[in-house]
Amino acid sequence: MPGALAEILYLVAAVCFIIGLKRLSSPGTAVNGNRLSAMGMLIAMVVTLVDRGIVTYSVIAAGLVVGSALGLWMARAVKMTAMPQMVALLNGFGGGASLLVGGAEFLKSELIGQNLGLDTSITIQLSLLIGAVTLTGSIVAFAKLQELLPGRPITFPGLQVLNATIFLAIVALSIYQVATPESLLWPFYAVCALALLLGVLLVIPIGGADMPVVISLLNSYSGIAAAMTGFVIRNDVLIISGALVGSSGIILSQIMCRAMNRSLTNVLFGAFGGGAAAVTSGKSAEGLTVRQVSAEDAAVQLGYARSVIVVPGYGLAVAQAQHLVRELADQIEKRGGEVKYAIHPVAGRMPGHMNVLLAEANVPYEKLFDMDAVNGEFDRADVALVIGANDVVNPAARTDSGSPIYGMPILNADHARSVIVLKRGMGSGFAGIENELFYNPRTAMLFGDAKASLGKLVTELKALA
Ligand code: NAP
Repeated sequence: MPGALAEILYLVAAVCFIIGLKRLSSPGTAVNGNRLSAMGMLIAMVVTLVDRGIVTYSVIAAGLVVGSALGLWMARAVKMTAMPQMVALLNGFGGGASLLVGGAEFLKSELIGQNLGLDTSITIQLSLLIGAVTLTGSIVAFAKLQELLPGRPITFPGLQVLNATIFLAIVALSIYQVATPESLLWPFYAVCALALLLGVLLVIPIGGADMPVVISLLNSYSGIAAAMTGFVIRNDVLIISGALVGSSGIILSQIMCRAMNRSLTNVLFGAFGGGAAAVTSGKSAEGLTVRQVSAEDAAVQLGYARSVIVVPGYGLAVAQAQHLVRELADQIEKRGGEVKYAIHPVAGRMPGHMNVLLAEANVPYEKLFDMDAVNGEFDRADVALVIGANDVVNPAARTDSGSPIYGMPILNADHARSVIVLKRGMGSGFAGIENELFYNPRTAMLFGDAKASLGKLVTELKALA
């Protein structure tokens, strides 16, 4: 294929990525955006295959078959709640690929005695460093979320100093490698080994529940590593797509941090969010009592409500009760009530978690409202139905300056005329703190697994005359 044609087709692929990414930002155009990006990827792959006879086609075909089979199996077998660890693993593969390509280019040049030039030598070092950190960091993130490693922050005195020392050693070795004209292999292997170790040490002190932010950051790293590799092998589409992944990953990490009222530095170095061992500051519930409600009474309340706002949270995903929420909403609407869904930006454990969950149950998108759009409506709502959500409706974020979530914007569920909370017991959420909403006189608790409780509510509502 003529070089100019290949460049033009790479440009077309890059335009598909950019427009596809833009379309992914709205639910209505997301499917189309995904297809467009996939098409861009197909164009990029075909052009690369035809343009460069790098490996034999039989090896490429074998790789395609094995990779597609594995990908298909993973996409079908992995549950929605396990999506974060799957994404972590895929990021790791991206980092690993950059490490391998960067390493192969370096070793090839050593083998044939080729002078790489300063720019290529520097980008090789960068793709080795970022690729290796992404690979092992993502594997640790996967292991934590899969509960193969403890989810709590694992830290020891001097860890940050050790990390800084390793990083400086990598920088020094890389400079030495680039600046030394004679062929040397040991700095190359040392940089790879130290960067792999750094990836582990950077992620182990981060609490399991902070992992979504880390995964988004590692996703960004995998993009930067790919862009560096693009410079190494002089492939424009890899540079552009890597830059897109790198920048969108950083933006996503920032959005998540802002919604949690945390800084990225605090997430990375704060050792926060360790489940049972988490920070437990905040108000104590001593002396306060909760009001319980039966499924029958809650169903009556919902059956006669004119306006209901559903607040889904992490517990809904755990219970996999999304289809029952839809059924419940159908019953309420049949009786003339209006149902809206209030979506907090960090509800659940990954960005868009609730949107994906509710989409699975075919809840219409126009019924899903972002926090800013719906918060004013709670004052007029008859019932706020909180399902498996906790931190995202905790008023301590507004009032308790000592609380770890102080300053985080929350959904105004406590402003509704009445609140019904579905959860299993008095367990805390990700932040590990008490929630005074549960002790509010207007709040009624319906204890039990969300799926079981919603099932009972649907049955009771159907039975209402
Ligand atoms: P949450 O505060 O973690 O609370 C979830 C609640 O669900 C728990 O209190 C638990 O109480 C209940 N639950 C668990 N399993 C259940 C089941 N089977 N049936 C019924 N209830 C169940 O959840 P959230 O309100 O969605 O808040 C998300 C938190 O994650 C925020 O603090 C956010 O900052 C953090 N976070 C989110 C992201 C993101 O990207 N979305 C990223 C990082 C961190 P019981 O044990 O009593 O049932």
